Amino acid sequence: MKVLSVASEAYPLIKTGGLADVAGALPAALSAFGVDMKVLLPAYPAVMEKIKKPRKSIPLPKLLGAEARLWQVTAEGVDWFLLDAPELFDRSGGPYVDASGQDFGDNWRRFAAFSKAAALIAEGAVDKWKPDLVHMHDWQAALTPLYIAQGPAAGMPTVMTVHNLAFQGQYGADIFAGLELDSSAFSLDGLEYYGDVCYLKAGMLWANALTTVSPTYAQEIRTPEFGMGLDGVANARADDLYGIVNGIDTDVWNPATDPHIAENYDLSKRTARKANRKALVERFELDPKHKGPIFTVISRLTWQKGMDLLVETVDDIVAMGGRLAILGSGDRALEGALLGAAARHRGRVGMVLGYNEPLSHLMQAGGDAILVPSRFEPCGLTQLYGLRYGCVPVVAHTGGLADTVIDANEAALAAGAATGFHFGSVTADALKRAVHRTIRAFEDKKTWAQIQKQGMKSDVSWERSALRYTEIYTNLIKK
Ligand code: ADP
Repeated sequence: MKVLSVASEAYPLIKTGGLADVAGALPAALSAFGVDMKVLLPAYPAVMEKIKKPRKSIPLPKLLGAEARLWQVTAEGVDWFLLDAPELFDRSGGPYVDASGQDFGDNWRRFAAFSKAAALIAEGAVDKWKPDLVHMHDWQAALTPLYIAQGPAAGMPTVMTVHNLAFQGQYGADIFAGLELDSSAFSLDGLEYYGDVCYLKAGMLWANALTTVSPTYAQEIRTPEFGMGLDGVANARADDLYGIVNGIDTDVWNPATDPHIAENYDLSKRTARKANRKALVERFELDPKHKGPIFTVISRLTWQKGMDLLVETVDDIVAMGGRLAILGSGDRALEGALLGAAARHRGRVGMVLGYNEPLSHLMQAGGDAILVPSRFEPCGLTQLYGLRYGCVPVVAHTGGLADTVIDANEAALAAGAATGFHFGSVTADALKRAVHRTIRAFEDKKTWAQIQKQGMKSDVSWERSALRYTEIYTNLIKK
């Protein structure tokens, strides 16, 4: 079965968040089930730097007025189609933002062209590789089913995965003329949304199947509280909506072989975490003599991630006897507040500003607990890495966090099932109480070892989820 995956970022070529980890890991995970998945990705400069020849050039017609071609390459064990459209993608900055952090003003055109390229591959633009199905990720790929429906590949099955409903690709109606879509698409059952254009809505309505990255989030997006204005659309597709929890790449995230950590270890050699803890203490300039647990945070610093609650709670975490190591970047005000907390609590709170993949590995290997106080979390990956590395997750009870971490309540502890700590309402008070529970458990060595070991035994691999995707593909292709 040939499947084209359409993703605006994919690890290890380019990553800003969890979508990249998932898009990068799916091809290998699915190949075990007989799926030949190739990934369409924009040829950003950062991507091209990582690509060595040989690469094959495949001509494409102009995309929304921009010269374009595909590079077909195999790299990092994945087969890629890299969309080379210099006018759209050859520029400095990140995949979506310029060097100053502002969204590119023409993102509507960049990612419409990207979706159109996917439709061209569906139509047979690549010699000897025409997909049986197209799998799109997030709003950047969400116009694909509309372009497919309005072209010669109409009828080809499509799957749309929503990794985060907060990002929708909404633009004023004036851009519609530039999309080269039939005017019928600007309607209630197309991409029109309260007089504007909404890419994600089109993807959610037009894909044959809709998935989100955890069962709880699949339910949550059907409610006004989490639906971000698209709960009606999610409900309209309820029969074709699936929640499939993300796995992790267990080769990249394996404490037994991880090259980024101070000492490798596994379940039988947990004591080697000590060396990683020591390296972490040094890196974050924490007090090595302090006995309290080290809480880590590896996150975009945003409201979604509850980082304002962390700011509110830092002083309490320190007062309760914890230490904190924070890695992240994002909202300037949150960055400033957390840097301020680190300055206030030297030796107890350390902060590294920025994006640092190797350091994120060391933090999972050396930290005692990872805090994930998200207001909503479609799946979340850092808690999964935490489970595998023995860095006990302390999470808000929402989305994929609720689905992947088992709270250390009395029953779960008695049954030996607990793997972390949940808190219900996402407030600073609730976070504080969860930290308090965690510190108490940490002080009871036997309980802590039980929770940590149980987490390390959790199945966080792709196997079960890859099978679910394969079943969805198979059913759609049969239809
Ligand atoms: P989201 O995609 O919403 O940001 P996820 O938990 O799904 O959240 O995925 C985040 C990914 O990005 C994880 O792999 C995490 O380790 C990584 N990450 C987040 N912030 C940083 C950072 N500052 N440095 C390194 N890795 C980071």
